[in-house]
Amino acid sequence: MENTEIARVLADVSTLLEIQGANPFRVRAYENAARTIEEHPTPLRDLVAAGADLTELPSIGKDMASHIRELVDTGRLTVLEELQRAIPYSLIDLVRLPGVGPKRARKLWEQLGIETLDQLETAAQEARIETLEGFGKKTQARILGGIATVRQRGSRFRLADADQLVEPLLAHLRATADVQQVAVAGSYRRRLETVGDIDILAIAAQPGPVMAHFTSYPRVRKVEMSGDTRGTVILESGLQVDLRVLPAASYGAALQYFTGSKAHNVKLRKRAVARGLSISEYGVFEVAEGDEGAATGGRRVSGATEEDVYAAVNLPWIPPELREDRGEIEAAERGTLPALLTLDDMRGDLQMHSTWSDGKQSIAEMLQGCVARGYEYFALTDHSKNLAMTGGLDAAGVRRQWAEIAEVTAGRDDITLLRSLEIDILRDGSLDLEDEVIAELDVVVVSVHTLLDLPAAQQTKRILTALEHPAVHVLAHPTGRLINRREPYAFDLDAVLHCAREHHVAVELNAHPHRLDLRDIHLLAARELGVPVVISTDAHQVPDLAFMRYGVEQARRAWLEPAHVLNTRPLSELRRWLAAKGI
Ligand SMILES: [Zn+2]
Repeated sequence: MENTEIARVLADVSTLLEIQGANPFRVRAYENAARTIEEHPTPLRDLVAAGADLTELPSIGKDMASHIRELVDTGRLTVLEELQRAIPYSLIDLVRLPGVGPKRARKLWEQLGIETLDQLETAAQEARIETLEGFGKKTQARILGGIATVRQRGSRFRLADADQLVEPLLAHLRATADVQQVAVAGSYRRRLETVGDIDILAIAAQPGPVMAHFTSYPRVRKVEMSGDTRGTVILESGLQVDLRVLPAASYGAALQYFTGSKAHNVKLRKRAVARGLSISEYGVFEVAEGDEGAATGGRRVSGATEEDVYAAVNLPWIPPELREDRGEIEAAERGTLPALLTLDDMRGDLQMHSTWSDGKQSIAEMLQGCVARGYEYFALTDHSKNLAMTGGLDAAGVRRQWAEIAEVTAGRDDITLLRSLEIDILRDGSLDLEDEVIAELDVVVVSVHTLLDLPAAQQTKRILTALEHPAVHVLAHPTGRLINRREPYAFDLDAVLHCAREHHVAVELNAHPHRLDLRDIHLLAARELGVPVVISTDAHQVPDLAFMRYGVEQARRAWLEPAHVLNTRPLSELRRWLAAKGI
């Protein structure tokens, strides 16, 4: 079992316990363990196999350690099975809806016998929910809206979760001697924020043994199809994986074809037709007179590498992240493709938390983590007091933290710690910290964490007011969405971007794989307007600093170059930008 799967089981136990009305400490214990595991940088099954002491991990006690071992060894969890005998498992789907939650899910089940989304939808349509005590017409409408959103979203996997499932499978495939090359195509290769299924391509002279090796992967739940050169399996996580085995001569054409997107490929094929060529997953071919449209009609022109495929239609190779038909083919033709940002360009990280609020590691440990990544600087952005549950800081707390910062950084010239705070934007748009303390921060980061369901006009006004504060540098996770879990709050992003430009404020691309906020199209808009972007991990422990990769990938999808991203700048230049606030 991968970490993401173990975490999901424990999170489910937590939710079921909550529905049951169990002791809140027990509920929290499972929830915290799930988070620890989800965020753990190496597979727990390796630790289990090595006989490691799991209780050394944060939030993992003796019971939880034995649960993890049971899951890794058997794929099952007795606690969960017992709970499922008392409570329908499908209630979990209800809990995730806006306006429901554990207590209401229990009420719906006990009083109306509702166990599934379908039953809830029917009951809401028949106006049976609004009559239930504590629900009402408004909640009923919200529930219907929530169900529609869930249906639309389908069962897509967050990219980082897909990574956890795909990487061991690739290692398994590469371990067979018959395979010469393995690559993943599709939206996974384009680094879309979520993926529906996985398309793997493999080069092998003999497809048979590769296909057999693929379908015998231990984590396969079901073999849907196993042909000569094509197979489909469903992994235990529910992720569908297709494998195609190809000869080396077709590899580039197939990689291009299956990477997509559809819109990009349609345009590319039109371009080929105009040149008397046809592009298919098998290669690029000359089209014989009167034979237009045939996939393999004429002489093969190319197909072994992607570069060859693009060269056949007089284009340079186009990075997969750009292949969305957002002008990349035209830019390639003009020779103006962007020189996309890379991970190596990042010189610092401007959002992370320590044990001073809800982070798991000390300032000294976070500093070491940033040094290990080769950063020139980083900003420590613990929460402000409005987020009481995170232990957010008030003015006195901030000053105490500065004392520790001074101690930790004394005599160090290898990295610069920028004084910062992730300051809550309050209901009226004012900031959750006194101006005289804000004035002493190096980087002022603000964000919305509460009152997410204000009317759009009010939410917009609230954010604009905050951005107009003369000290603010960065608006963090601007839309508040959580991928597959929470929609963005209602507000006018365009107005916010314009205000940011006017007031010398940067917008964050929060690289946490659950957030990736702003998303690609929003970042394109920021780029268009000339609003600088900051890519930060929102790390709560050292391993999270590696999330930077997801931020960079998302930034590439938005055509961002190093010049668009503030934390690619050397410290002196960054400081100049920060200081320009007062002008
Ligand atoms: Zn935040």
